[in-house]
Amino acid sequence: MSEQFSAHASNKVLADVISIDTLTAGVRRVRLKPQEAVHYLPGQYLQIFLSDSDKRPFSIASAPGDEYIELQIGGNVTDAYAGQALTHLQDNPTVLIQVGLGEAYLRPDSNRPVILLAGGTGFSYACSIAKAMAQQPDGRAVKLYWGLRNEAALYYQQELAELQELRPGLQLVTVLQEPGQDWTGRTGLVHEALLADIPSLAGYDIYIAGPFPMVKAVRDVFLTAGAERGHMYADAFAWI
Ligand SMILES: Cc1cc2nc3c(=O)[nH]c(=O)nc-3n(C[C@H](O)[C@H](O)[C@H](O)COP(=O)(O)OP(=O)(O)OC[C@H]3O[C@@H](n4cnc5c(N)ncnc54)[C@H](O)[C@@H]3O)c2cc1C
Repeated sequence: MSEQFSAHASNKVLADVISIDTLTAGVRRVRLKPQEAVHYLPGQYLQIFLSDSDKRPFSIASAPGDEYIELQIGGNVTDAYAGQALTHLQDNPTVLIQVGLGEAYLRPDSNRPVILLAGGTGFSYACSIAKAMAQQPDGRAVKLYWGLRNEAALYYQQELAELQELRPGLQLVTVLQEPGQDWTGRTGLVHEALLADIPSLAGYDIYIAGPFPMVKAVRDVFLTAGAERGHMYADAFAWI
């Protein structure tokens, strides 16, 4: 790693790359160990510095207090955004990161029911929030809707079953866009499946992550369905 990448700002630290595992053909799980203590909230993201001028945001999949920071990087289409970050992580045993970014973190003081809407690797974001809520159960109902292209894009099934044991109120709905003929679950676009189940979104805290076109489509449609702007959280809103 170049010496010009100095870690000095708050929550900007060097982190050791502990492991990179295969979750699907296109998605990798990355575990990082920061060399200093860092702070983040469930649902926040970090940036990986590929150079001084090139930093890429990735949702943190782990919950605060977990031993490692976990990332889930990749997607349906192998693109340069994820691919270059993975190459950087593979080539460097230590990387510079900035942790604890974003405003779409889990609101700890709310008692409203929670909807987590994830498209593809947007699941990483939902995962952090679901893990945090499983570690500190409160009375809130939690529905996690996860949309994926097809069966081959699915991952984390064992971990999700474990989370549901910790938090029995966690309701998981998986929605495949282009399923094979053996799929008996929900089909279509994930936000449309959600709206079919819950036509009125008034009263919910709604946390959203996924491809930008999904988040863009969802923003307007959900407001029409009664969601309140102040209770819809997505860091992608800042990009679209
Ligand atoms: C703050 C931030 C954090 C990020 N974190 C990560 C990260 O942790 N990991 C990562 O790899 N990338 C991350 N990205 C980049 C980007 O969000 C991902 O590239 C994207 O989520 C990957 O989606 P996918 O290819 O897995 O989903 P896809 O396979 O393309 O789509 C999954 C599902 O989303 C829905 N969907 C897709 N398109 C539409 C549409 N046009 N309308 C309605 N619904 C649609 C469908 O239900 C579909 O099945 C991040 C970006 C930002 C800004």
